[in-house]
Amino acid sequence: MLLVIMGAQGTGKGTVSGILCDELGIMQLSTGDIFRKNIKEKTRLGIEADKYISQGQLVPDEITVPMVAEALDSDEAKAGVILDGFPRTTEQAKQLDEMLKQRNKEIDMVINLISPREEIIDRMITRRVCPNCKATFNIKINKPKVEGICDKCGTKLTQREDDKSEEAINNRLEIYDTQTAPVLKYYEEKGIVQNEEITISKNRLADKAAKHIIEMLKDVEK
Ligand SMILES: [Zn+2]
Repeated sequence: MLLVIMGAQGTGKGTVSGILCDELGIMQLSTGDIFRKNIKEKTRLGIEADKYISQGQLVPDEITVPMVAEALDSDEAKAGVILDGFPRTTEQAKQLDEMLKQRNKEIDMVINLISPREEIIDRMITRRVCPNCKATFNIKINKPKVEGICDKCGTKLTQREDDKSEEAINNRLEIYDTQTAPVLKYYEEKGIVQNEEITISKNRLADKAAKHIIEMLKDVEK
């Protein structure tokens, strides 16, 4: 099974992916993880990618795409994969299609998570992170046991600089929408996009969305 998951920050992408991986026995594959693994193992592509990443530059497609291909060919990926953070552009989407075709595979579903803008902003403004162990909390819906202190390691929680202002969050969301719109359109034209709403106001959270996706996948497989 091959899934692609899309959705802005704060839509619950991590939670939905986690549930799908557990329930379907598949693995999540993010470009960040793929880069880190290749850099750590000092593969040829990893060494190349590191040159860009260490300078804060985007890794070009000539490196990213073959790296994703190798990851898809690995033994761990045999049972199935959820791609996260890839493809980022229509060009990457086309190259992904090409390499899947060579392997006689195709994308089963592109999951697009949608949340109301004001809920995303609220969720990000109330988010707190542990600077030590990177655990995340939320002062409304996922409070730490002791106010302002990390449950896991006891460090004082902080708020990310770019989570502090509504304007900064809004800007980030705008950029995300602009960048992903063409990729979404590309997949919509293929008829493989499944839009999933995640919203507190209708009590439709990540677990319900994940459950619905699993139901839909049963139909896809038939
Ligand atoms: Zn911590």
